[in-house]
Amino acid sequence: MATFLQPDKIVKVQIGSHEMTINQKIIPDNLVAKKDIASYVKKGDKMKPCAKLNNGSGKPKGITVHNTGDIKVSSGTNAAEQYTRATYNGNMSGVVVHFYVWHREIWQNLDESERGWHAADGSTRRTDHRGNKTGGNLDTIAIECIGPDSESEDTVAKLVAYLCKKHGLDPKYDVYTHNYWMYGKDDIASGARKNCPIYILPHWNQFLETVNKYFASVANMGKTLYKVQCGAFTVKSNAENLKAKLIKEGFSDAYIVYANKLYKVQVGAFSEKSNAENLQNDLKKKGYNTFISQAAQ
Ligand SMILES: [Zn+2]
Repeated sequence: MATFLQPDKIVKVQIGSHEMTINQKIIPDNLVAKKDIASYVKKGDKMKPCAKLNNGSGKPKGITVHNTGDIKVSSGTNAAEQYTRATYNGNMSGVVVHFYVWHREIWQNLDESERGWHAADGSTRRTDHRGNKTGGNLDTIAIECIGPDSESEDTVAKLVAYLCKKHGLDPKYDVYTHNYWMYGKDDIASGARKNCPIYILPHWNQFLETVNKYFASVANMGKTLYKVQCGAFTVKSNAENLKAKLIKEGFSDAYIVYANKLYKVQVGAFSEKSNAENLQNDLKKKGYNTFISQAAQ
């Protein structure tokens, strides 16, 4: 049986009333290919560009959306983890992206400040939607939406909205299709012009409207959130047991956050501290030993 990857860090993001979970497994700088993977990644080469976006500044100039085929996965995992694992194992022909999304699952493989290999070549820039010169690989964050499922597409829209807010991008100008970066007669003649994102392209404007809707609801970004923590464990199953107990007792939004090698069981996420204190009192009455944790969005 395949050994599934474990995220190094789990990040929770609030988009309006939706909570989004990002599993981070950032490819280490020193990871090298165990075999020849692509024309530009031979055995012993680094598995990613190891370079910052936007002329070394690390500030993304846009987001590129891709589609890739859905896959059959082993039980106990999902396609976003499986694509991440294939990347780590050198089975993606040299493609390295920032995010894989499948249904509500998100796996992050690259830091948002670094370059990937996902759109055209590594050196060309073209006129972008703002009239500046931008390169897909050189300057943008890549998201692969796995398969045609509408839930996956909806999660991608939320992720795009979140990233736009986080990096000061505007969904009206800064979101690109993969094939925007493939252009010119050489690309077409060689058959390289990709019909990507194949499932979203036919209704791209509708997708952007959904992004805009979520973008408007990411208003809390940068503010502090107050969460009530009920326990922290090194063993995941202990955290899952506590989470199940909380849900059974009516605290239906209990969840697990993995950080600093601890599985933390938390309830609620409030921008007003008094709301967290009220919840804390309810939990105390039921015998839970709690404290309020503060986290930036
Ligand atoms: Zn693509």
